[in-house]
Amino acid sequence: MPDIEAGTSYFDVQDCEHAKADLTRFADAGLDAVLHTFSERDRAFYRETTADIVAASHDRSLSVYVNPWGVGGVFGGEAFSRFVARNPDSRQVLNTGERVPAACFNDPAFREFVRGWTRDAAGLGADVLFWDEPHWHNVHWYGDDHPDDVWCCRCGRCRELYRRRYDEPMPATETERVSTFREESMLGFLDEMMALTREEGAENAVCLMPTGSADHGPRDWEKLAKNDHIDVLATDPYWAAFTEDADPGEYVARFGEELVRVAADHDLRSQLWIQGFGLRGDSAPDDVRTATRTALEFADSVFMWGYDGCRTISEIACEEPMAVWEAYLDELP
Ligand SMILES: [Zn+2]
Repeated sequence: MPDIEAGTSYFDVQDCEHAKADLTRFADAGLDAVLHTFSERDRAFYRETTADIVAASHDRSLSVYVNPWGVGGVFGGEAFSRFVARNPDSRQVLNTGERVPAACFNDPAFREFVRGWTRDAAGLGADVLFWDEPHWHNVHWYGDDHPDDVWCCRCGRCRELYRRRYDEPMPATETERVSTFREESMLGFLDEMMALTREEGAENAVCLMPTGSADHGPRDWEKLAKNDHIDVLATDPYWAAFTEDADPGEYVARFGEELVRVAADHDLRSQLWIQGFGLRGDSAPDDVRTATRTALEFADSVFMWGYDGCRTISEIACEEPMAVWEAYLDELP
C-alpha cells in the first residue's frame, strides 16, 4: 500500500526549534503529512511562528494540512473562541431563544471573520485547509440539562433566511424543512470558504463526524461530496469517543466503506482518522492496531489524532499515550 498518505495532527508547540525536533521524528517514522492546528489565538499571536513551523514541515517533505481549531466554537478542538466572546450578537440561538457560545454559520460577521482566517491559513503555506467537524452547537456535550430535542440555530438571521427560502416563519420544532435548512446553511458556509481557499492556492478537506445528524452537516454525505471545491472527504470514526462499546475494526470499516464509496463517486480522495486520545485500558494499543489496519484497507489517507497519543493534553490523553502512538506507527506501511 505504498501510495497511502499517513499523517498526524500536531499542536500546542509554538517554538519552531522544539517543533523541528518533533517534525524530524515524524518524518523519520515514515509519515508523509502533518496537520497543524491554527486556532484564533495562533492567528492573533503566532502567525509568523506558525508559518515557520509549516516551512519546517515542508523542509522534511511533509504535506501540510491546517485546521481552524475551535474557531468560532463551530469546529473541533481544544481551543476557545475570542470571536464569540467579542461578538455576542453573532452567536447561535437555541430554539428556546437562549444564546449559546458558538457563532452562527449564517452570521455575516462570522463569515467575514472566517474569510480572514482562510486567507491567513492559506498564507501560512498550507497545502490543504482541513475543515474539521463543523457542527451546530450541541448543549448536551457540555453536561447541560436541556431537553433532548433542542437545536440551533434560530437567530434573527436564520429566521429571515428561512422565511425567504420557504415563505413561512421558521418553526420552533425541528421539522424536516428545518433539518434541511440547517444542512444547507452549513454547506453554503463551507462552499464560500472552500471557494476562497482554492483562490488562495490551497486544497480543501472536510471531516464530517460519523453521526448522520443534521447537527454535524449533511446527513447524506453526497451533498457535500458534489461540491466543486472539495478535494478530500474525511471522517473520524472514534470508536471509544462516539460509541458505548463498538468494535474498532467494525466501526472504522462501516464508515470507511461509506466514505470511500462517496469519495470515489465524486473523484475525491478519502481520509480516515484514527482515535489517539482518551483511550484507556490494556486493549488500547491493539484496538489502535485493528483500527489502523482497517483504515488502510479503505482510505487514500490515514491520520491519527493526535501525535504521541495526545500525551500533552492531560484532559484527553490516552492512559498509555506512547503505546498508542507506537501501535499506530507500527501498522503503517
Ligand atoms: Zn443563526
